[in-house]
Amino acid sequence: MTGIEELLLSRIRDVADYPEPGVMFKDITPLLADPAAFTALTGALADIATSTGATKVVGLEARGFILGAPVAVRAGLGFIPVRKAGKLPGATLSQAYDLEYGSAEIEVHAEDLSADDRILVVDDVLATGGTAEASIELIRRAGAEVAGLAVLMELGFLSGRARLEPALGGAPLEAL
Ligand code: AMP
Repeated sequence: MTGIEELLLSRIRDVADYPEPGVMFKDITPLLADPAAFTALTGALADIATSTGATKVVGLEARGFILGAPVAVRAGLGFIPVRKAGKLPGATLSQAYDLEYGSAEIEVHAEDLSADDRILVVDDVLATGGTAEASIELIRRAGAEVAGLAVLMELGFLSGRARLEPALGGAPLEAL
């Protein structure tokens, strides 16, 4: 394990049975509160943004906003929020996706994405990949290109990476 991986891992708190029994919640608030770790994380994600040739960063509500906005600033790029349904005031594109129980819907302002854009999607945790898959679908439907997906952490046992492979179409999935 590299020094940065050790630092990041040491600042993630495992919370058992949150928000419901059987889930091991990965709490990143200790990492956010540590300036060295937060700076290292946003720097590493900004390097990915630059190396993928991204023109904008999409952050997934809510922790993808906390990470994605400083990544965009550090890489000199614009930031686009992908929000849960009903939160954006302008004309939106919406994408529904299945959850374990029920479904959810995410939205983006249609005018934020254009055919010239290459988008890096940023989030904290990749679990089943459902949220990321829906966001990639939104980006493609808006005519933009997906430069890649970058997350702090991937929960490998949930096989999100395999699920996302078709949607990513060869674009990189980087998990720090
Ligand atoms: P998924 O769509 O299943 O990949 O879930 C991804 C979203 O849910 C991300 O935005 C994460 O912030 C959150 N999430 C899922 N599982 C966890 C977990 N075990 N710990 C923290 N966040 C999680």
